[in-house]
Amino acid sequence: MTDHRRVDTWLTDMDGVLVHEEDAIPGASEFVEVLKASGKRFLVLTNNSIFTPRDLAARLRGSGIDVPEQAIWTSALATAQFLAEQRPEGSAYVVGEAGLVTAMHDVGYVMTDRDPDYVVLGETRTYSFEAITRAIRLIEKGARFIATNPDPSGPSPAGTLPATGSVAALISTATGRQPYYIGKPNPLMMRSALNRLDAHSETTLMVGDRMDTDIISGLEAGLRTVLVLTGSTSRAQIEHFPYRPTRVVDSVADLVELVGDPDPS
Ligand SMILES: [Mg+2]
Repeated sequence: MTDHRRVDTWLTDMDGVLVHEEDAIPGASEFVEVLKASGKRFLVLTNNSIFTPRDLAARLRGSGIDVPEQAIWTSALATAQFLAEQRPEGSAYVVGEAGLVTAMHDVGYVMTDRDPDYVVLGETRTYSFEAITRAIRLIEKGARFIATNPDPSGPSPAGTLPATGSVAALISTATGRQPYYIGKPNPLMMRSALNRLDAHSETTLMVGDRMDTDIISGLEAGLRTVLVLTGSTSRAQIEHFPYRPTRVVDSVADLVELVGDPDPS
């Protein structure tokens, strides 16, 4: 699949592309360095809503990858921006961590448990029965239900951790109301990243390790896509999907030389 559109903007997933948990994937640091040196616009995308971009930049630095915090786009930021556009200076009851609470404050939202416009659910490791109960009652009273991302579980060294999608399912079961999810695979995550960069879909490439999140949302946002095989997808699995990435590479190391290439697809 070759075309002759140039690539001005790169979006890349984080986990499974640049890092595995805390460990850098070989080539990730070089890839980020060549992106910075190229002067091209880029954002590192993550559905993780626990951390602020500053926290994530520090964690990536700890792994040997130097990404400026301005170049990190989380589902928490996308959620806050979406809500600020939908209902400026609104109010929300937030179940989540600093990454989400900070993002909501930064767009001018008031956090309240009294008649909020929205209940906003993000990732947290400290879910409480009390907070979930409050969220359920507020949704029953008319608060709109938003969740940062639908991921049902996440990895940890000790094994599976329940994630935002699982807690959202609990609230949905109790209320009969489904949340609107902002993070991948909603292409809104890509559109908001493009808006943030003032970039255009035709000249943007999305790099990811998952077909059912990174590649489908990139595709639906009109981007060209690159699947790396360092994450959760093997080469054999790609053919099972009814859609395909523009390109498949072994790892991010294979992208280093493509950043300066005018026709990398
Ligand atoms: Mg990933």
